[in-house]
Amino acid sequence: MPKIRTAFLPQELRDILNHLYANYSEAEIAKVIDAFEFARLRHGQQVRKSGEPYIIHPLNVARILAEMNLDIVSIEAGLLHDVAEDTTTSLDEIETHFGKEVSRIVDGVTKIDRLNLSAANSDEKAETVLKMFFAMAEDIRVILVKLADRLHNLRTLDSLPIEKQVEKAKETLQIYAPIAHRLGIHKMKWQLEDLAFKYLHPEEYRMIAETVDQKRSDRELIKEEYKSLLQLSLARQGISSDISGREKHFYSIFQKMREKGKGFDEIYDLIALRVITENDKDCYFVLGIVHNLWKPIPGRVKDYIAIPKSNGYRSLHTTVITHRGEPLEIQIRSQGMHKEAEYGLAAHWIYKEGKITRIHHKWITQLEEWQKDYQQGVTGLGDFQKELQLDEVYIFTPKGELRHVPRGATTIDFAYSVHTEVGHHYAGAKANGRIVPINYELQNGDRVEIIVNKNSPGPSLDWLKYARSSSTRAKIRKFFKEKYSTELMEKGKDLLRQTARKLQISMDDLIKDPRLLKLLSKDSELSEKDVLLRLGEETISVEEIASVFRPEEKAMEARSDPERPISPTSTVFVDGASGIDVKTAKCCTPVPGDKIVGIVSQKGITIHMFDCPNVQSITHGQIVTAEWGDTSKEIYPVQVLVEAEDSASHAVKDIIQKAHEKSVKVAEMNTRFTDWNLTVYRVIVYIKDEVSLSELMDSWRKISGVNRVYRVREGS
Ligand code: MN
Repeated sequence: MPKIRTAFLPQELRDILNHLYANYSEAEIAKVIDAFEFARLRHGQQVRKSGEPYIIHPLNVARILAEMNLDIVSIEAGLLHDVAEDTTTSLDEIETHFGKEVSRIVDGVTKIDRLNLSAANSDEKAETVLKMFFAMAEDIRVILVKLADRLHNLRTLDSLPIEKQVEKAKETLQIYAPIAHRLGIHKMKWQLEDLAFKYLHPEEYRMIAETVDQKRSDRELIKEEYKSLLQLSLARQGISSDISGREKHFYSIFQKMREKGKGFDEIYDLIALRVITENDKDCYFVLGIVHNLWKPIPGRVKDYIAIPKSNGYRSLHTTVITHRGEPLEIQIRSQGMHKEAEYGLAAHWIYKEGKITRIHHKWITQLEEWQKDYQQGVTGLGDFQKELQLDEVYIFTPKGELRHVPRGATTIDFAYSVHTEVGHHYAGAKANGRIVPINYELQNGDRVEIIVNKNSPGPSLDWLKYARSSSTRAKIRKFFKEKYSTELMEKGKDLLRQTARKLQISMDDLIKDPRLLKLLSKDSELSEKDVLLRLGEETISVEEIASVFRPEEKAMEARSDPERPISPTSTVFVDGASGIDVKTAKCCTPVPGDKIVGIVSQKGITIHMFDCPNVQSITHGQIVTAEWGDTSKEIYPVQVLVEAEDSASHAVKDIIQKAHEKSVKVAEMNTRFTDWNLTVYRVIVYIKDEVSLSELMDSWRKISGVNRVYRVREGS
């Protein structure tokens, strides 16, 4: 029992101390009380907007950190996190009283606070995110304190004016929740999301909350029935475990409804259970018992224990059809895995002699790399922010090692991620034993082998077009910058000269023109040297540059271009054979670069996307393999949906404008309004291949007010 007298301490502090008794000495615990007293004194008479004494806020932040089982230094920093920002206390003073580590964390949090996100436009926001991450790479506890700070601020958001509420909520969904996700702190992520959702879409939130409440009692009995059935089966096999119903989070229900355009019932009716076993090896045993009890739905069994997600998440997932004939989602994991799932990497560095040095985490290493690239000007902020949102796929090396790559990564990206030299000497790649092109998009479970030619002189500038990851592009650029900068600049100068002549302006004016700078880089500031280097890369033509200056002329050219046939027939190899007449399917509109299959029917051969729902549900006709051949002279119709907020009335104009800038023809466009204050534009463009399509879609994603841009796969 502790000898510390706690009777007069606030409840929050007593909760915090309860988390610490088991692992810390009395002297250490006394430091936490000191930190509390110090903060209380320094905040003095300050009050929060709600009228409460200010100290309530740091106390709650520290309690959130204690609940995450963080170390004593984080908790002290949590108590002191606003002292430097809001009072006259200096960092030196904090250091004298509480040591270097605590003051460094407080310093980091204070710096983030001063970044003033609210006044920022979206580019500035991206910059903020970046800075924040760099702060994190030094000591991740800075971010954890900041996340806890944000969580408590959201919990007490009611006292702020509505504009502030909306602003904070948006920022949370854009920045804080994705960070929590990346760090695998699921518990933090869903709380942030649900709270932000409540303020951002109050109507929808209330609707979902109320419906969940009504449904709960109906479903409770059935859930109990499932639980006890499963409990019984497990007990018979001598397995003790903890089964609980799993509540779906409001924001994820909302997202699913929006994504799938489905009603509440179709989404919420899935009951979900979670089985937590005592040890790791029981998980598979439990899975067997579950599948013995109810039939699993094929393809829905996910083994994240053998193949953890890149944020470290481990669990078994399955969906079964119960004796009642309805689907039931079940997650199975051990106590240890559960802790990790809730607290992410925070779960790992608890109480290691009360000390945390550098935590090894793949993602942190990656951040450090980005930081270097950014400082050298070879990557931009937009790239970074995009990467933050990216999903990942897992692949295997020829030796069977597991690697995660961003979804959409190509073989050249993978080569560079193995090692820069492997990338530089890339000579080809095999996926699952077959040769694949350089722009082949890696798929989950692919076994990927990179073919290296030690004698190759180095990368080709073309590769920039096939690289999807910003770090790959950065590495290629770095190579050329170092080896060939003089040649590249000469080439760049040539291109600049030609363009200046065409536009009849001076080279000096042209190189400084913001329109040119914007065309070359969305984010970073380019020096004249950088401009020449980028131009020298030859990924852009005189016409393309000129078109930015004289958009009307470009539009005329595109319209009166007779050489490009708009033809739905293509050069595709079917079952390895060429010269076969095919047409591309209207439901999924595949373009070169997409993974495709052919369906043979009486009407001929139709080319579908590999994952087109119509292929999966095919009952008539036969599926044959198909691969793209030489399609360089072709363009293909493709359907894309652009989801924008109703308020973004400029979206139509911007969509067309961006397509123009990329010399892409918009063939058709229609509009649908949804119940969610969103407008969905269905756009049909004619496009050369998947690479140019993703570039176009990326440029649409940057239009303000646009939420999502995605290709259509229609089931019949
Ligand atoms: Mn605060």
